[in-house]
Amino acid sequence: MQKFLKRAYAEIHLDRARRNVEKIRSLLKGDTEIMAVVKANAYGHDDKTMARLFESVGIRYFAVSNIHEAVRLREAGIKGEILILGYTSPEYAAELSRENIINAIVSEEHARNLSLAAQSPVRCHIKIDTGMGRIGIREDTPEKCAEAIEEIISLKNLKVEGIFTHLSVADSLDKGDVEYTLHQRDFILKVWEILKGKGINLTHLHFLNSAGGTYYSDERSTLARFGIMLYGLCPNYCLPLPVKLEPVMDLKAEIAYVETLKKGSFVSYGRTFEADRDIKAATITIGYADGYSRLLSSKAEVLVHGKRAKVIGRVCMDQMMVDVTGIDAKAGDIATIIGKEGNEEITADYLASLYGTIGYEVVCGISKRIPRVVIDNGEIVDVLEY
Ligand SMILES: *Cc1c(COP(=O)(O)O)cnc(C)c1O
Repeated sequence: MQKFLKRAYAEIHLDRARRNVEKIRSLLKGDTEIMAVVKANAYGHDDKTMARLFESVGIRYFAVSNIHEAVRLREAGIKGEILILGYTSPEYAAELSRENIINAIVSEEHARNLSLAAQSPVRCHIKIDTGMGRIGIREDTPEKCAEAIEEIISLKNLKVEGIFTHLSVADSLDKGDVEYTLHQRDFILKVWEILKGKGINLTHLHFLNSAGGTYYSDERSTLARFGIMLYGLCPNYCLPLPVKLEPVMDLKAEIAYVETLKKGSFVSYGRTFEADRDIKAATITIGYADGYSRLLSSKAEVLVHGKRAKVIGRVCMDQMMVDVTGIDAKAGDIATIIGKEGNEEITADYLASLYGTIGYEVVCGISKRIPRVVIDNGEIVDVLEY
């Protein structure tokens, strides 16, 4: 077994991700293919590792947030198509061509500037803003939108291969939100029809993210841009998924110290925790600099020997304390911060719910200092240490 610093580490379980891909495929209709979203270091799971895994199970499309992330995938040997979902400055036109990366056109102005900057064809998917209010061509009617697209297609050195949009409330099944989502979907479908009517046949039309692909699966979307669900988390923790996914990342940390604290003792900065009885406290070597939010102070739990142990007092930068009264904990034991032990489980989604965020932010926030230990069917296959 490869040696690595066990102070605090994330296990990345490839076998779980493989099973998630199969479950997600079962949700798709017609010829819709998964586009694996591996932006932000694959939501903290290590982008090169995850992209290689996805390619090995037949995924041919990848999405990232910027050109650096795209180039990292090429460095990792990824042969599939790579789409940058966000804005890329026209300064990077040459790199886009050279690395064979597909660029998102975020506005007509962006298209014109990119066209002027490009010396050779740049592959593009045009983003349409149907209600997200972030990036994309925004027009009142599908007719006007199709006209704007036609103009962009006519620009020199842009090779437009598709159009796409982003659903903003596909993770809610409230009546108003469903109407909103259907409006977003119908808008881009109409744009597609109009373009076809004009003899413009592009290869791709895509509008599904994880929530969309789950609750609005649609064979007319050639691609479904799945991110969070590939990693086994939910787009919306409150809404059950029709398939059972497995969180790919477990987070663990070592116990450094165990002591008995007398009733009336205080724990951590600010004296926010006072023992109301004699307790056994353990100090664990993980803190907010590792991405374990300080907002979880005195709120969250960890697992020690299969039992839940509550975080007591403020989470520090590199350490935190938990109440292990009644648990046979000792220095050197490994605590599970995110993951399963026996019948107990702590998920990133659950931690997120404790401090008012989403599982996405929890896993993306696991910092660089945390080694990623890649595991396949129980065997360590790689260790990525900062
Ligand atoms: C991040 C992102 C996705 C993936 O969203 P998930 O909810 O993680 O599936 C899809 N499309 C776009 C444009 C994105 O920015």
